[in-house]
Amino acid sequence: MADAQVSKYMLKLEVMPENEKLFGLCNLRILSRGDLGVKTVPFLLNKGLKVISVSAQNTELSFSQELTRFSDINDLIVNYVHVDLSPLPLSNNRLDLQIVYEGRIEPYANVFKYVQDRISEEYSLIRPDAFSYPVIGVPDFSKLIHMILSQTFEYELDISVPTHYVVANIGELVSREIKDDMIIYKYRSKLPSWRIDIAIARFETVYDDEKDIRIFALGGDVNHAERLLYETKRVLDFYIRNFGEPINWCGYTIIEIPSGWGSQADVCGMLLDKRSFVDKEAIGGLYHEIAHLWTIKTREKIPSRFLDEAFASYFQILAEKELLGKNLNAMLERARKRFIQMCQKTPLLADVPIIKYGEYKVTDAVYYIGVWVLYLLNKIVGEECFKELIKRFISEYAKEGATIEDFISTCIRTCGEYTKRFLNDWLLETRGAKLLISGEPESNIVQLYIKR
Ligand SMILES: [Zn+2]
Repeated sequence: MADAQVSKYMLKLEVMPENEKLFGLCNLRILSRGDLGVKTVPFLLNKGLKVISVSAQNTELSFSQELTRFSDINDLIVNYVHVDLSPLPLSNNRLDLQIVYEGRIEPYANVFKYVQDRISEEYSLIRPDAFSYPVIGVPDFSKLIHMILSQTFEYELDISVPTHYVVANIGELVSREIKDDMIIYKYRSKLPSWRIDIAIARFETVYDDEKDIRIFALGGDVNHAERLLYETKRVLDFYIRNFGEPINWCGYTIIEIPSGWGSQADVCGMLLDKRSFVDKEAIGGLYHEIAHLWTIKTREKIPSRFLDEAFASYFQILAEKELLGKNLNAMLERARKRFIQMCQKTPLLADVPIIKYGEYKVTDAVYYIGVWVLYLLNKIVGEECFKELIKRFISEYAKEGATIEDFISTCIRTCGEYTKRFLNDWLLETRGAKLLISGEPESNIVQLYIKR
C-alpha cells in the first residue's frame, strides 16, 4: 500500500456519556495512484472498541481482530484489525471501507501520561492519540507516526449525543438538529488535516463572527474564553501588521480539555489544556500556536524544525514584547541559557549545524537557538528588510513548501549578498552556536555581520 492514502473520513457516531460507550460507523476512503495492489488492509482501534462488521462496495468483508502489543512500545495495546479484501475486484485505485464498531474508549495514561481519553459524563474525547476511530496502520510506533503525519485527509462528522451536551470540533459547523432526545452535530473539516478531534461536554461557547473565532469553555471558565478571544484577535492583528496575512486563514477554534490531557495544535484550531486555558501567564503558548499559521511547509528530507519552530518561537517573543510588555533581552538570555544547558547535556549539539538537527535528532534545541538566529538576522538587516524577507519567503514558498536553502536564497535576494556569511555561520555551520555558547554579547555578534 505504498502509494495509498486515506483521503476522507466520514464518522457517524452515537456517544452515550452516561453509559461511557459509543456506537460508530466509519466510512474510510483510501485512494492510490495505481491499483491498491493489496489483499488486506490493517487498521488500529482503541483497546476498548470492537469491530462488528466491515464492508466495501456493498460486499460484506471478513476480518480478524486481536488485542496486540506494539512491537516497540510493549505497554501500548490496541485492537489490531485485518480486513480481507479478496472478494473485491483486483484492479482498484479507490476503496471505500465501512467499519461498524462499538465499545468504550480506554485511556493510555500508562504509556502516554496525557492520553487520559475516555467517554464520561464530565468529558468525552475522541482523537487519534487513543486510536478512538479507525487508524490505518500497524502496531509499530515509529512506522505509525510516520504514516500518520505524512497524510492529510478531509472529514465529515455526524455526532449524536444527549441534548444537554455540546459537541466541539475545529471544523465548520454544518448543522445542529434535535431528534427525539438526542442532538446531532454535523461538522465538516475546513482544511485537510492529519487528525480528527471530537470533544463532548457541557461546553459554553464564545464566538466572534467577524473573524470566525470560536472558543469552547468548560463550566466556570467562560471569562477565560473571553480573554482568549481577545488575545487571539490582538495577536493575529500584530502578526498581520508585521508579516502580512496568514497562509491559510479559515477561522480559529480553541477547545478546552481537562488538566493534564495535553494540548494539541491543528490546522485552524487547537485543544487547550485547562491549566493553560485558565492561566494568564501561559498566553505565550497561544501566541506560539497562532504564529504557526505563518509556517511554511518543509520540504527538508529530515526536518530540522527551523522553518516551523524557530519562526513560531521568534514570532511568539516579538508578540510577548509588544502585547505583554515583556523584556526582549531577558527572553533572549533565557533562550541562550537553555541552549547552553542542552549543549552540556548533549555535547554533540554544539557541533551539529542547524540544518542537520533532524538527522542528529536534536530538533528540541531549535526553539532556543532558532530564536537567536532570527533575532540577530532581524537586527543585522533592519526592521523593514526583515519584514520584507518574511513576506517574500511566504509568498514564494507557501504552496510547494521550502527548505533551509530556500530561506537562505530568499534572504540573499531580499537583503543582500552580505547576509550570506551570517546565514552560513548560523545555519550551515556551527560558528554561530559557538558564539552563543561563549556568552558573546549580542551587540558584538551583530557588529560581526552588519553591512559595511
Ligand atoms: Zn510550535
